[in-house]
Amino acid sequence: MIVRNLTFQVFIAALLGIGTAWLFADDSWRQAMAPPAVYELILLIKKVFLAALRMLIAPMIFFSLIGGIIGIGNVLRLKALGGITVSYYLLTTLIAISLGLVAVFFIHPWTNYPPAVEMGSAVSSIRTIDPGSESIFLVLQQILTQAFVNPFSALVNMNILGIVANALLIGIAMVLVVPQSSKLYEIVEHINRIIFKILSWIIRLLPFGIFAIMFDFTIKLNTGDGHTANFLSQLFGFAGLVVILTLVHGLIILPIIGLVFARRSPLKTLRQISRPLLVAFSTSSSSATLPVSMQTCDEELGIHPSVSSFVLPLGATMNMDGTALFEAVAAIFLAYLYGIELSNIAVITVFLMAMISSIGAPGMPTASMSGMQMVLIAVGIPLEAIAILLVIERPLDTLRTAVNVEGDLIGAMVVDHYTRRV
Ligand code: ASP
Repeated sequence: MIVRNLTFQVFIAALLGIGTAWLFADDSWRQAMAPPAVYELILLIKKVFLAALRMLIAPMIFFSLIGGIIGIGNVLRLKALGGITVSYYLLTTLIAISLGLVAVFFIHPWTNYPPAVEMGSAVSSIRTIDPGSESIFLVLQQILTQAFVNPFSALVNMNILGIVANALLIGIAMVLVVPQSSKLYEIVEHINRIIFKILSWIIRLLPFGIFAIMFDFTIKLNTGDGHTANFLSQLFGFAGLVVILTLVHGLIILPIIGLVFARRSPLKTLRQISRPLLVAFSTSSSSATLPVSMQTCDEELGIHPSVSSFVLPLGATMNMDGTALFEAVAAIFLAYLYGIELSNIAVITVFLMAMISSIGAPGMPTASMSGMQMVLIAVGIPLEAIAILLVIERPLDTLRTAVNVEGDLIGAMVVDHYTRRV
């Protein structure tokens, strides 16, 4: 039974990749002009797997963001409810990302420079991004001209900023001028479903892709001076930090928000919502957990059905505290691992991108990996760095999905509390 579990398979594949590379490959594999055929085959698997993942990035970001905005369009029509819901989503996501970034900068030694915001260092970091630029206006011009491009060129060239800007504009315009009854809404929803069906097929190949990626990574890293062990300890250090921060958010911050804004006892709340949390933990999917969350709101929490049927489905795609936290910390970690020093602007970009991509990610297993790619590309970290995350992605996904779902459930309590009084 456990052998059929994807998380288990990915773990084994990663260990096999590292182990076999360690045992069988020697220095000649790295230096040889023509590497052994078996290594070439493994490289082929790695490249095809990464290409398959990459294939989906542009359409996935584009359509899932439009889908999310269509949801917000409905929210805004429900004024009070929508306002509180969106504020809650943004606030808790901001807290989650800030928690991650503060921990990384001030507690964890991945960076030995704090996020200095004084004028002097801000100017020098602008120069880091664009050595030729003389002022902040040139940087702004660079960013904005990248954002305002035609949607086709943005999609074809995988210009993430352009894709996000176009999706935002098209989504908002669609809400304003296309009637709710239009087929267009259904079409967007169906396209999203198709994209995620394809993603689920690619995810089945994870063990093979991970084996190949880790094999190659170990060969490139293993210079015989203990680098591999060092890398693994860094990786587990990162995973440990993500687990601790996710638990702090889920066991301390969210319950306190529930206490302050919805007058619910933290311990009682955690007990009442334990069932959906367990389902989220074992399925790694906020969407799959949705029916259980609905039932819990109704049976355990006594939340008005109009609130839960609105806040929970929207939250399953838009509100992902665990995902945002993970992405922000992961980007900083990968930058460190690849020796890329992030300027202040890059750190702010990580912050914003982690937020936007957590809103755009659908509630499915490993869904945040596409958003993660967007964060990496935006700050110039090589896309193949994603491979490092994929090794520990599956176990971490369980916990962050549980926190994503918890955020939605506590959100339903808060919105219920306030809309009852309105
Ligand atoms: N699995 C997460 C969820 O469904 C999304 C992600 O972070 O990959 O909430």
